[in-house]
Amino acid sequence: PLQNAKDYVDRLIKYVEERNPNELEFQQAVKEVLHSLVPVLVKNPTYIKQAILDRIVEPERFISFRVPWVDDNGNVKVNRGYRVQFNSAIGPYKGGLRFHPSVNTSIVKFLGFEQIFKNSLTGQPIGGAKGGSDFDPKGKSDMEIMRFCQSFMTELSKHIGPDTDVPAGDIGVGAREIGYMFGQYKKLKGAYEAGILTGKGIGYGGSLGRKEATGYGLVYFVEEMLKDKDLSFSASTVVVSGSGNVSIYAMEKAMQLGAKVVACSDSSGYIYDPNGINLDTIKQLKEVENKRIYEYVKVHPDSTFKVGCAGIWSVPCDIALPCATQNELDKEAAVMLVENEVKAVGEGANMPSTQEAIDVFIENNVLFAPAKAANAGGVAVSALEMAQNSARLAWTEAEVDEKLQIIMKDIYSKSVKASSEYGVEGNIVVGANIAGFVRVADAMIEQGVI
Ligand code: GLU
Repeated sequence: PLQNAKDYVDRLIKYVEERNPNELEFQQAVKEVLHSLVPVLVKNPTYIKQAILDRIVEPERFISFRVPWVDDNGNVKVNRGYRVQFNSAIGPYKGGLRFHPSVNTSIVKFLGFEQIFKNSLTGQPIGGAKGGSDFDPKGKSDMEIMRFCQSFMTELSKHIGPDTDVPAGDIGVGAREIGYMFGQYKKLKGAYEAGILTGKGIGYGGSLGRKEATGYGLVYFVEEMLKDKDLSFSASTVVVSGSGNVSIYAMEKAMQLGAKVVACSDSSGYIYDPNGINLDTIKQLKEVENKRIYEYVKVHPDSTFKVGCAGIWSVPCDIALPCATQNELDKEAAVMLVENEVKAVGEGANMPSTQEAIDVFIENNVLFAPAKAANAGGVAVSALEMAQNSARLAWTEAEVDEKLQIIMKDIYSKSVKASSEYGVEGNIVVGANIAGFVRVADAMIEQGVI
């Protein structure tokens, strides 16, 4: 049975590579998950018979559309918009929208694929989806952003709904963009469907704690993992890549737990502050002024800026939290971290570590929290936002935070439990994939071949 399962997985991976040529990120995500599911297939061959994996690697629907808009000089511009509705076995499609020039079919599909298992791990009723555009928000005026969002939603609105598909933010999409898209959706539908998008402003249906959820959730998850080894964020040195929504609130929670965060980054490079990063300055630069990270050193003269983002992994630390983007942490970076005796790595971004980097961490017994489990707090609070919208009520920040903590602890214990059940004790990369998969697979079987 073991050889049979391995052969099946190898065949399917080859098939996915042939069917989705040049989609390297999608192939990478599929390979990682499929390899880790071999022990499940050995124990439960029904999944092979029912072609669950063959079905799961094929999106239920992939939508690509034209997004025309007019810039401030009156020029007509055209971008490409996407939505992949990957799997609806356990709930309406759910997942963010990313606006970044790197967005293409492969990026959208890898993110949508990961989202299936992440959403399943939260225990909530949400299927997997993702979307976005190759539109570059950098340097665009507020009115250009608004016109782009309106045009994007004009098409997207035909494919989504509070009970079918509920988008949210991701890189390049925050509360401002969600607001513009919500306004356009409402105008097109002529109805106030609050649950059509999550990550909304607090005044019109957003949830308290959503903004902080991914970063806080990441730290709650890693703290659980550390606790098992009698370690903690308290008095540890932390490096957090990125300086967007995930990174900022990961830094905030790590600091609240007594950690010293010494470095963070953006796409221009990274800053190192031996006194500990001043988060108020970062928030001012990134959330208010939309400035580059090197402005930080003007305010804090003890700190230094270095060009290039990968260099951040040469900064010695106890805990590393990659919170920028996919494949930002490669083998070389992992080796540097190990040489500097890193104790734990927690992924805040989606697929920030390459497969080779993950292998280095596992081989060297570095505690490793994989993205699908560790960054699920964002989408988990999105699902709480949907619940509040359906019930037409609003929970307090404390209520949301308490639920988030429970969810993150539950994801951790589920992943650990699955790892021991399937003979890979303590490997939460595999454990998380298995726990996420089994719930979706069983739902698919119960619902028949559809
Ligand atoms: N984009 C986030 C993620 O990667 C959040 C998605 C959501 O809230 O729907 O999970």
